[in-house]
Amino acid sequence: MIIDKETYKELKNDTFGFFNTVSTLATFEFGYKGYKHGESFNLTLIKSGILCNFAFKPKIYIKYDDIKDVSISGEKLILNIFEEDDFKDVVFKIENTGTLEKVYLTLREHCNLGYKEYSIEAKVNEEVKVSKRKEEKERIKKLKKEKIPYCPKCKSTQLTNTNKKLSAGRAVGGAALLSALNPVAGVAGGVVGAVTSKKRYNICMNCGHKWKV
Ligand SMILES: [Zn+2]
Repeated sequence: MIIDKETYKELKNDTFGFFNTVSTLATFEFGYKGYKHGESFNLTLIKSGILCNFAFKPKIYIKYDDIKDVSISGEKLILNIFEEDDFKDVVFKIENTGTLEKVYLTLREHCNLGYKEYSIEAKVNEEVKVSKRKEEKERIKKLKKEKIPYCPKCKSTQLTNTNKKLSAGRAVGGAALLSALNPVAGVAGGVVGAVTSKKRYNICMNCGHKWKV
């Protein structure tokens, strides 16, 4: 419910103390008229409910007794509440996945909802990203160790070598460059102009990057 200043002042000190109170920055998504999607506020779990502190705006207070279900979807916290004789959904976004998890579990406990399995997608995605980055690091380490040349830009080992100085205007894909180097392939004569030079160049067949050997 939307509360007045006096009620807010009374409630705001009813916390579990500095070290035990869960408090975080959140974003409003859905559920109360007059509040915009994407508006940020401070969410605090006090002794009797959720206190939402919006700057320059009436605050929102949701009693634990009124919360009938809590779930997580992506970065969103979805509350199913029964307030003022009405069932409704209230949705908040909490970007920090660790905090989202904490708010979710604390809420289920305070509202006596019991434990329910959940998955945080963002966290899973982040773990996949980290392991991919690790794999790529290992691959490059191995290439360096075995002295296998690779593209400094995209790290591909699909390279070709030429003495032709290319005057490619814009970023040209590897395939176009390759056909430019090989006049038999024809097509690219107009795309890339080739001038013979004494220097040798490596060309990445994946991204088209060219560098002196
Ligand atoms: Zn490349």
